[in-house]
Amino acid sequence: MDLRGKYTHIFFDADDTLWENEQYFRDAEARFTELLADYTSPEGVQQMLWEKQEDNIPLFGYGSKTYMIGMADAALDLCEGHLPEHIYYGVKKIITDLAFHELELIDGVVDTLEALQGRYKLIVATKGDLTEQMAKYRKSGLAQYFHHCEVMENKDQRNYLELCAKNDLNPSQLLMIGNSVKSDIAPVVEIGGTAIHIPHEVVWVHEMMDMPESDRIIEVNEIRDILKFLQ
Ligand SMILES: [Mg+2]
Repeated sequence: MDLRGKYTHIFFDADDTLWENEQYFRDAEARFTELLADYTSPEGVQQMLWEKQEDNIPLFGYGSKTYMIGMADAALDLCEGHLPEHIYYGVKKIITDLAFHELELIDGVVDTLEALQGRYKLIVATKGDLTEQMAKYRKSGLAQYFHHCEVMENKDQRNYLELCAKNDLNPSQLLMIGNSVKSDIAPVVEIGGTAIHIPHEVVWVHEMMDMPESDRIIEVNEIRDILKFLQ
């Protein structure tokens, strides 16, 4: 598929598309599992945490603060209502480390953005906690390549239609690049847009979904490969 001249704007997912993210959450979960090792099996901790995240995400959105609440809820249940101080502060330390870790850009991101800059309006389209996502965007050093960063409430069809309206685009003019089939690919093609999928080796369990059938989905191995379709 040749996308040259077809698009004026390109939207990029951020977490695990521009910079590493999911691995830090996996590491935080491993530390949490270790912290609760005296109370149940690693599988039991993971299951409880998963359930609490499912409960809290619709209420509080995405990001490490919601993880904090989920971990505290899970710990409270696993400790049968008697949450020891060291567990609560252990959770808080895990989350603090998660929220303020160093940002590691994914290989090829800078070269790719340099090649596209000035030829397309580049916009970051991420979801999650506003303060957290904007802090990562500024810390990344990538702001110089982007027109701006949109922090979306979620990434479903409605949110993408709102994104198009905000940027004066018809959904058919939406080109989205990202690693999550559920958040970056499926809703975009469902509203008539085009998506380029760059899989990341670590996928969050809440983001897992089968790839939909569409001739408006391109799959590439790494971010540099998108230039083949855009230069
Ligand atoms: Mg992502």
